[in-house]
Amino acid sequence: MKKYTVGVDVGGTNVKFGLIDPAGVVLHRNRLVTKSYGSDKNKLIKALADGVLGLIAASGISKAQVAGVGIGLPGLVNPKDGLVIFLPNIPGWRNVPLKSRLEKHSGLPVYLENDVNLITLGEWGFGAGCGCRNMIGMTLGTGVGAGLILDGKLYRGEGFAAGELGHMPINFEGPRCNCGSFACFETFVGNGRLQQRAADIFQRADIALEDVFQLAKSGNAKALRFWQETGETIGTGLIGAVNLLNPTHIVIGGGVSRSHQFLFPAIRRTIKARAMAVQGRMVKIVRARLGDDAGIIGAQILVNQEQQAK
Ligand SMILES: [Zn+2]
Repeated sequence: MKKYTVGVDVGGTNVKFGLIDPAGVVLHRNRLVTKSYGSDKNKLIKALADGVLGLIAASGISKAQVAGVGIGLPGLVNPKDGLVIFLPNIPGWRNVPLKSRLEKHSGLPVYLENDVNLITLGEWGFGAGCGCRNMIGMTLGTGVGAGLILDGKLYRGEGFAAGELGHMPINFEGPRCNCGSFACFETFVGNGRLQQRAADIFQRADIALEDVFQLAKSGNAKALRFWQETGETIGTGLIGAVNLLNPTHIVIGGGVSRSHQFLFPAIRRTIKARAMAVQGRMVKIVRARLGDDAGIIGAQILVNQEQQAK
């Protein structure tokens, strides 16, 4: 019986592989360093296929027991045609027919998805979203990414580019953003901006957000205020999405979510105070549960859904 899935999480630094069982448990793992392939995409494609087959062999199962491979990629992907349209952080990737190339190399069905969408699917099916019908999955890091589950389905948008919560402007004026616009949500709560703010507040250029988290734990008033203000900004950035989409869950992951005990109460308070009554009452702000495994686990759901849709 085909009961296993291989999940692949392609990042700018590492590629992580995992063999997943039907309950969403990662049974075996493998990884490779993305940068060692430079801009030679053919080498990286071959390494992805070898990684998948190597993982299956090392797990002691046969290829016939694997339903398929789900791959999360950090950029714009066309899952319908199996194309990687563009990866901003991996050189040389434009309009690559990755699905067909990997299927040829591996002999397994392959499905592509944007990495944050895959994380959202993972948290939705096996993590903090618990299968709810309407959910936003958000990752806080260098950038702010999001995936949308609407009416029980991943919402991709017409050009597969939906979910860019981090690029919703939250002001008329503000810092320039990587996307070419300005005053985007991400320019207020991305790690770069938070680190700059922490450096200004504590007069220490080398202070890390982890230090500010530890300071808050020890009761430091400036650190507590830092996280409270950050929570208010995140809450403000989410109000529009809450009013527009009426989700029951916003699942927040990424490095900064480690400070959830200081951050989340301010996010909740801000949303309750400013969102519309029905939407504000229904939405729960919860911490992501699957950590770094979310994307790999999401692959199980992707492969399942794609094969059932056939
Ligand atoms: Zn932007």
